[in-house]
Amino acid sequence: MKKLITTLGPMQIEDIGMMLSHEHIFTDLRTEAATGFGLADTDDVIATRKPELDRARQAGINVIVECTPIGVARRVDILLAVSKASGFSLVVPTGVYREPWLPDWVKAASMESLRAWMLGELQGNIGGTGVRAAWIKISAGDDGMTAHEAKVLEAAALAGIETNAVIGSHTVKGSTVRTQLDLLEKTGYRADRFIWIHTQAEPDISLHVEMARRGAWLSYDNVGSPESDEIILDCLLKMVGLGFTDQLLISHDRGWYDPAKPHGGVAEPFTHIVETFLPKLRAAGLEEFAIRKLMKDNPFHAFAR
Ligand SMILES: [Zn+2]
Repeated sequence: MKKLITTLGPMQIEDIGMMLSHEHIFTDLRTEAATGFGLADTDDVIATRKPELDRARQAGINVIVECTPIGVARRVDILLAVSKASGFSLVVPTGVYREPWLPDWVKAASMESLRAWMLGELQGNIGGTGVRAAWIKISAGDDGMTAHEAKVLEAAALAGIETNAVIGSHTVKGSTVRTQLDLLEKTGYRADRFIWIHTQAEPDISLHVEMARRGAWLSYDNVGSPESDEIILDCLLKMVGLGFTDQLLISHDRGWYDPAKPHGGVAEPFTHIVETFLPKLRAAGLEEFAIRKLMKDNPFHAFAR
């Protein structure tokens, strides 16, 4: 039976109300050299993020995928504390971000040792927290993959083949996704277990179509940013019209506690999609079964294993 691994235990599809596939609770986009990188008072994170998780639950959302990997301050201890304090299930990744955020130990590591590290987090737990990683988050440079990023991708593929964990990659160019899928398929990893995170960053829609035809998930994940809603609405209608409804994901990519700001900065709400964007989709003629796929079936099937 396919299960979604969360901070509060495994879930089946009937346990899901609505699910957001790309958000953050805690992230530090500075690099490791910055003073106070990744540091915060756990109680302050809870105090400032729990109200928005409570609001999300009132709106019918009960699972959020946390997309912060190693390199941008993944703090599983904090995620678990927030999750327990709010009773809100989070889906946590193994994996590592891109250069220049790659820690030195990742640069020095062999592909094989990175594979073993990811596998340990996907099959056991993350650093003694008891939290098992559900999926693999990686990234590629804006101008294509570096050698280190390709090594991380190959390690992810091999760990993913053994666990059926999905790989999600922050990749802004469709041409880079093409290279990533080529490399993945060479290892035997299936394109339909790959999520193209930030698909909306690629203006050439023919590349969205090309990757969807190969089987990849398309993640339109900056809903609620200035001017993005109309662009994403157009993309969704086009992709649904072409028959790719089962491969589409939507989310906000927001909400995180930023240790560089007092009290982590403003907690942006996780409810814009439910309150504002879904009504726009309905008004544009998207049917209820497609809305249910976007908010429940698709994120579950992408991340469950
Ligand atoms: Zn993100």
